[in-house]
Amino acid sequence: MINVLMFGPPGSGKGTQSVTLAEKYNLLHLSTGDMLRAEIAAGTELGQRMEAIMSSGELVPDEVVIEMIAHRIDTTTGKAGFIFDGFPRTVAQAEELQTMLQERNMKIDLMLVLEVNDAELMDRMKKRALVSGRADDADESIINNRIAVYRSKTEPVLEFGHKAGVVSIVDGVGSIDDIFARLCTHIERVI
Ligand code: ADP
Repeated sequence: MINVLMFGPPGSGKGTQSVTLAEKYNLLHLSTGDMLRAEIAAGTELGQRMEAIMSSGELVPDEVVIEMIAHRIDTTTGKAGFIFDGFPRTVAQAEELQTMLQERNMKIDLMLVLEVNDAELMDRMKKRALVSGRADDADESIINNRIAVYRSKTEPVLEFGHKAGVVSIVDGVGSIDDIFARLCTHIERVI
């Protein structure tokens, strides 16, 4: 089994690239953002509790996403591994994921870090706002808050990755196909 973390700021292309990487390498794509939006769309009690947090650009509590991820790991069969997108987003989530994988005789094999400058990120997010229909894409102040939350709570996960010796930095600017090819090179080094 191989476990890949897709890491980078909002708008860096994690979701786009994760979908095609998952297909190519037979990995299960686990996006906590997608899972949470599915809870909201289904009108579950959990979804109702998380909706306001998400639309303000803040993070939902660690336990919520950890529980969702653990459940998916334990109910998946027939895959070569997992690609985690938008998770872990705090150091506590990263530590919990590492423990969870170790308990199941797995580990974090690779952390792919998509590097994109702030001006390009803003530009992409504004374009996405026109088509995504997401409440947290609609407003510039919420986008700015998501970037601030990323810098304060999520970026420290990079240090965790460095300590674990799994980080690969990838230039996230260019055509989708070129970035995909760069990511594949790193994945092929660990499989
Ligand atoms: P993006 O990467 O485009 O910012 P996501 O779809 O990954 O968006 O996440 C959308 C929102 O869902 C986040 O702003 C946050 O409120 C919530 N969320 C997603 N994943 C996590 C996580 N691992 N921990 C806490 N909150 C999360």
